[in-house]
Amino acid sequence: MQSNCVSIVPHDTELGRNRAIDQSSCNKDFSCVSGFCPSFVTVSGAQLKKQATTAIELPDMPDPDMAVINGTHNIVITGVGGTGVVTIGAVLAMAAHVDGKAASMMEMAGLAQKGGAVHIHCRVAEKPDDIAAIRVATGECDTLIGGDLVVSAASKTLGLMEQGRTRAVVNAHEIMTGEFTRDTDFTLPVDQLSLALSARIKAGLSMFDASDLAKAVMGDAIFSNMMVFGAAWQQGGVPVSRGAIHRAIELNGTAAARNIEAFEGGRWAYLHPDAAAKVMAPDFVELPKTTGERIVFRAQHLREYQDAAYANRYTDFVDLFDGDLRDAVAMGYHKLLSYKDEYEVARLLLQTRKQAEAAFDGDLKLTHHLAPPLLARTGPDGRPKKIAMPHITPKLFPLLARMKRIRGTRWDIFGRTDERRMERALIVEYERDLAMVRDAVRPDTQDAAIALARLPLDIRGFGPVKMANAQKAAKRREELLAVMRAPHRTVAAQ
Ligand code: SF4
Repeated sequence: MQSNCVSIVPHDTELGRNRAIDQSSCNKDFSCVSGFCPSFVTVSGAQLKKQATTAIELPDMPDPDMAVINGTHNIVITGVGGTGVVTIGAVLAMAAHVDGKAASMMEMAGLAQKGGAVHIHCRVAEKPDDIAAIRVATGECDTLIGGDLVVSAASKTLGLMEQGRTRAVVNAHEIMTGEFTRDTDFTLPVDQLSLALSARIKAGLSMFDASDLAKAVMGDAIFSNMMVFGAAWQQGGVPVSRGAIHRAIELNGTAAARNIEAFEGGRWAYLHPDAAAKVMAPDFVELPKTTGERIVFRAQHLREYQDAAYANRYTDFVDLFDGDLRDAVAMGYHKLLSYKDEYEVARLLLQTRKQAEAAFDGDLKLTHHLAPPLLARTGPDGRPKKIAMPHITPKLFPLLARMKRIRGTRWDIFGRTDERRMERALIVEYERDLAMVRDAVRPDTQDAAIALARLPLDIRGFGPVKMANAQKAAKRREELLAVMRAPHRTVAAQ
């Protein structure tokens, strides 16, 4: 992946993990477009469509038992750069002043760079003389406003907290770090992170998915920090008046009415966590659960990808296996058979305009950034260089998609590249390997057999990325075949 951008988020589907753009944090520098994936399309003349939201009827909400300022009340705000963390600190400091109190604030990340960890230290006091130092020291944090789970559970932040003293509200959303751009399988250890926080502050911790709630109620995750702020206030950990906070938000002047709505929504979520969870419940997509359902799902996909004969080739082969090995073959064999060549990319890109029109309003102009084989020049990194294709390009997609009929035949001009030859060779090799496995598998080689059957799931990406992954898989294949052929040797299957 070319860009180290946290606005590129995982989008899990039955056929594997794709990527999506988090439009609310994307700053449109377009560095991701130069990556090798053909699915990054730029849309001009577009305004982000107002996301359908769930209106919540805010009940009367009692003011909390507010924390008493004991010398200073020390607040730490955490989050990710580029998501408005500094704004929360500024609003808090201003609200203290509006209330006639004193406040100090410092950013611990210097420039809150996009996607980087940000810490804001803020002390509130009855009078300025009570504030001796700005930085919150070890164990001194009274309130944590946790805009991001990773930053909040980091040792640097945990060290500032003290059991019995610190109370915290933390956004439980899985906000991806840059790691995801390097490792598609990367998932945040959410449970471990939550455990680290609750181990540190026990009863004082409250967590909810403020990003999903902000999207569901406000139509944009950018309001998540303000919601966490509202929840922390309702928890009693922000000793300034609600009126002063509203005033400070108005003085800040950025989407004031919406931010006040978000703040109040956060209070509501703290008081009514079950109702908030219902509002956040995502639209439920029924995914295949059993091996049989997975096979039917993939056979249907192969019918669309190629035709009924191709899908039958798939089911006929998978039907030679049973149990866990059958499930593994169902996943691995489908991955190889559905390699994304020019015909398949064209078929998938036919959906692009519909997807863009679902997300954006306006007179949309779509620009596809592709590295067409035979045309693309090699870039300085030795990879085919992507070019912004002329706007007429989408008109070619229907024809290209229909040309799937010549896939793998001597008429298949795109099929002559190394990548395509490799993809077809992998299918033949897999059929041969698994036919051998079917006859040779025994209890002590079952794990290796399953690992071999699932190996194609690791051969991801396009062009040079895919070639590199295939080389890695080829080494692994040799290891696993050695287990199948020489049972007395065991290699721990991955
Ligand atoms: S345009 Fe820039 S900010 Fe947006 S997703 Fe791509 S790399 Fe990230």
